[in-house]
Amino acid sequence: MKNTDTDKSVRVRMAPSPTGMMHIGTLRTVLYDYLFAKQNGGSLVLRVEDTDQSREVDGAVENLLTMLSWAGLEPDEGPRFDEGGKIVEIGTYGPYTQSQRLDIYRDHIQKLIDSDHAYYCFCSAERLDEMRTVQQKMKQPPMYDRTCTQLTGAEVQARISAGEKHVVRMRVPRGREVVVDDVVRGRVSFSTDTVDDQVIMKSDGFPTYHLAVVVDDHLMRISHILRGEEWLPSTPKHIILYDMFGWEIPVFAHLPLLLGPDGKKKLSKRDGDVSVEDFIRQGYLREAIINFVAFLGWNPGGGQTQEIYSIGEMQEIFRLEKVHKSGAILDRVKLGKINARYIKSLSLDELYDVGVEFFDANVSELYPEWSKDWTDSQRQEVTKRIMLIEQDRLERLSDFAKETPFFFQENIDVSSGLLQWKDNSREQTQEVLKRAHALLASVDDESWTRANLQELLMQAAGEDRGSFLWPLRAALTGQKKSPSPMDCAWVLGKEEVIKRLENASNL
Ligand code: GLU
Repeated sequence: MKNTDTDKSVRVRMAPSPTGMMHIGTLRTVLYDYLFAKQNGGSLVLRVEDTDQSREVDGAVENLLTMLSWAGLEPDEGPRFDEGGKIVEIGTYGPYTQSQRLDIYRDHIQKLIDSDHAYYCFCSAERLDEMRTVQQKMKQPPMYDRTCTQLTGAEVQARISAGEKHVVRMRVPRGREVVVDDVVRGRVSFSTDTVDDQVIMKSDGFPTYHLAVVVDDHLMRISHILRGEEWLPSTPKHIILYDMFGWEIPVFAHLPLLLGPDGKKKLSKRDGDVSVEDFIRQGYLREAIINFVAFLGWNPGGGQTQEIYSIGEMQEIFRLEKVHKSGAILDRVKLGKINARYIKSLSLDELYDVGVEFFDANVSELYPEWSKDWTDSQRQEVTKRIMLIEQDRLERLSDFAKETPFFFQENIDVSSGLLQWKDNSREQTQEVLKRAHALLASVDDESWTRANLQELLMQAAGEDRGSFLWPLRAALTGQKKSPSPMDCAWVLGKEEVIKRLENASNL
């Protein structure tokens, strides 16, 4: 029974299990799925694989849908939010949620039993444990020993009728070779002698992942299966199932594992946050996260990874067959750099829009008194100035305001030692502060612009910049490191600058 459908269009799917918040690896899979589907004029299907109800987490599907629309990677078929925020399904191959497809699986399991490709197994968990212990001792692979294949049809029926607990297993043919022609990994072959008689129906009547995934991928006309490398060992089981049903086998592409920072172990929660939402919460921007994720296992070549690509541009240059085999390290330093580059490229208004929530949250936690008596527009103006000044150094939006306490504190601590540049004397330092005071006091409010202050103070500094700019910086910020004193003066405003210079002169 070959698939007689002549429609050979590209159809890919993402098939997450709703067991928690969307993982960064899932975002990579769906991004590759999306790029591959779109560049081939195909469709992306979302299917919720919820047959293991014990692992299901409330709100996981909602989180998934929210993250997909945040990423701009909306599937063409499957569950989605309607306008009222309710989950609905669209597409002609549904239902797209496995728990709503139980009858379909039951029918297919029955077909395999009828054709002798599957059998009932009544072995208890204790018996299977004992069997495994013996196998381990004998250094044999843990495989079901097929005890229940000895039962006659009548015995099986009698035990089922008596309500005895049972599962259904696939009968893996022995002595054959299964070949996976993987787009990423090339030709991988497995001997069926190492493939266990996998359970395809659990004792609760639910199908296992292996059965459901094959049935659904076939019925939903999936042409290409992109998924993490951790699923490669399952693929021979799937291919055997396709053969048993007489179905055409889709194309497989197993994407490289995501590794922790040591480059050896698989990425785990111990390596820090791994959900997409966590990254967003830490102040990484959508475009930066998506670019970072795109490069986990692929790059456009030609050293072009310095740029930030839009999804449309990636669609042009992405090549599934160029995806790497070796594991991809989730390198947060690199993510920080991509994010910093992206933050730098934003206009001030864009930066304000994406950053103001982070900024406000930090400010109200760290400096609750700041701008208390200001009007909204005053606060917005100064916030924008600070953002502009911090823009070039910022790696994450969540770092806003953390490194520049002097913009927010009313009284800053300045030690007199800090004011002095190199071997300059106290008198020389006081002289500089007086000169700066006189100069800045003469600037009227209109002329208090970033450019003017830059010009004025650089001119005043002359050749010996350190002698002038260092004490000024120290007086305004109380720190050795800060944005330039011109920029600090611009942000602080004339009144505050004069006050700080006067305070420093009295030191
Ligand atoms: N439900 C599986 C998962 O959670 C899907 C694996 C596959 O793509 O076949 O990742």
